[in-house]
Amino acid sequence: MRVFEYEYRDSSEFKSEIEKLRAWCNSHTVSNVLFHVYTQSADDPNIGTILHIISTVIPRALYVGASTSGNIINGELSEADICVTASVFEDQDTTVQIHQYSLTDDTVERVCDQVVQMVNSNNDITAVEFLLTIQGLSMTGLCEQLSGIREDVKIFGGAALNKFMDDNDVVVFSKVGDISDKSIVFVLYGGKNLFADAFFIGGWNPLGHQLKITRCTRNRLYELDGKPAYDTFSNYLSIKNDENFFVNSLEFPLLMNINGVDILRAPTACNPDGSLNMTADMTEGAMAHLSYGDPWTILRTVNQFGLRVQDFDPQAIYIFSCAARKTFWDSSSKETKPFTSLASTTGLYTAGEFVRTGQHINQHNVTLVVVSMREGPAKRDPDKLFHMEHSQDLSGQVSMVNRLANFIDKATQELEEANFRLSVMAVTDGLTKIFNRLEIQRRISSEVILGVTSGEDSNLPSLIMIDIDNFKSVNDCCGHSEGDNVIKGLANMIKDVIDKRAPGSIGIRWSDEDIIAGKVDGRPCAGRWGGEEFMILLPKTSLSEAADIAEAMRLEFNNIAFTQAGHQTISVGVTRAVRGENVDMLCGRVDQALYEAKKTGKNKVVVK
Ligand code: GH3
Ligand code: MG
Ligand code: MG
Repeated sequence: MRVFEYEYRDSSEFKSEIEKLRAWCNSHTVSNVLFHVYTQSADDPNIGTILHIISTVIPRALYVGASTSGNIINGELSEADICVTASVFEDQDTTVQIHQYSLTDDTVERVCDQVVQMVNSNNDITAVEFLLTIQGLSMTGLCEQLSGIREDVKIFGGAALNKFMDDNDVVVFSKVGDISDKSIVFVLYGGKNLFADAFFIGGWNPLGHQLKITRCTRNRLYELDGKPAYDTFSNYLSIKNDENFFVNSLEFPLLMNINGVDILRAPTACNPDGSLNMTADMTEGAMAHLSYGDPWTILRTVNQFGLRVQDFDPQAIYIFSCAARKTFWDSSSKETKPFTSLASTTGLYTAGEFVRTGQHINQHNVTLVVVSMREGPAKRDPDKLFHMEHSQDLSGQVSMVNRLANFIDKATQELEEANFRLSVMAVTDGLTKIFNRLEIQRRISSEVILGVTSGEDSNLPSLIMIDIDNFKSVNDCCGHSEGDNVIKGLANMIKDVIDKRAPGSIGIRWSDEDIIAGKVDGRPCAGRWGGEEFMILLPKTSLSEAADIAEAMRLEFNNIAFTQAGHQTISVGVTRAVRGENVDMLCGRVDQALYEAKKTGKNKVVVK
């Protein structure tokens, strides 16, 4: 296959170029001719002229087109308002079909269904391209549905835009439909000798700590980490909500990982309530990072992917690039020009780039989708190498932005680790590593409240309180450190018995991460109440179950042989919360039970 590129200046020059193309086609074996017509103005009257010339000079040629915020011709941003490329296929088995459908909230499902069926019932099809007008439609459903196309089919496309980066005044068109502001145009490429490869290049890097998307609907992002989304951009990046908001925030889009794919979304405007309009749908509950575009990193990423294109040995390269990248590069063609060292490189700047990664089709933003196409086997001309200016410099250089971002990442990581350790320390007793008094008190209170408010007596917790018998004499006889060993031995035994026997226990020890993540909430647990006194909280546990657990603890503890202190005993009080009492009354009663155990001979369990 071959691609012929035209920058439109006037009708007579264009006509003569297309006549030359017809002559070329007549002197070669040609199976299909497909034109892509991209215009910066949706209502440019020259489009009609161009389509008429194509139809009359090469009647069998197909054409598709869209409005765009910029044309890429010969790997560079063209100055022409309208650019046209002709892809001429030479293999007799290659097929090209085009379809155009009206695209609204009501039609999207039916259209996708039809296309999925059409492609899946035709094993010949190897690639599907689409151009569409978004006009406020959610693309999530469209992407999900088109993901139903056979996995071996490459899928890629772009959304129409115009030179003012306005996605309301946009069109797509084709030979089988009108110039329309509410349509989707499909190109179905087929043939056993036609090969395509399509992937996306991001190159933006995560910055700072993770943010949770706590509230969004479609492309409106209300909250990050429970705070108005704009706060993130003003606090961390000092981006003001003024006429430069779009351009300033463009360098720092949000980076999410959805289905294992990195997706970028940039804010386009900020609303008075602090919510942001994003370039496309967001996913509530997903984690996101601010990200930054660093020229060196982006070019290095492009360079890596350039080698993939080189391996493919394309005869044509089609680019669907985000309009944001054009702004980012200040209209220079640093990241698109290098592809021309491999094949003709043409394309457009879009309002959304689509590409399949694995099974899923995703709508990307701030992304470069690169499509390689070839008829016949790869020949791999050793002289055709992906060449990026200064590519050798890219391997060693690290920009200042990158170093600072790395510094922020490391500092954030260290702070997060320190925060985590502090959170663990705040709830843990240093000697025994079980909860401290404050934490076990807090947990007892919340279980009592939960049990009472649920209205079910079966949800009320039981409490066990333990005190070591005659512990002063352990300290006196064996020293303080053996005393500590006895306290630790008791705590470990308590944990073991909870893990083995307490209702609701999952049978294993909790990690610090589990505790901080709240996974222990509502589960049985223990805390150090004072010197050698312990409190055990058993949510939703009856008094008799609690008494059995207490007795098991008494026996187990007595079985332990400490190196110097030998066998020791404990006294235990047990009680259960009752409706209408407060936490102090509950703790007072279990203390009373323990006091009775001490008073009536120690080494026993008293249930109250
Ligand atoms: P009883 O059977 O009535 O409980 O007698 P007891 O000797 O155990 O009396 P009590 O419970 O009042 O004793 C508490 C002792 O525990 C007093 C204190 O020296 C000791 N103790 C408190 N905290 C620690 C600790 O962290 N390590 C050690 N080794 N001893 C501690
Ligand atoms: Mg004691
Ligand atoms: Mg005591």
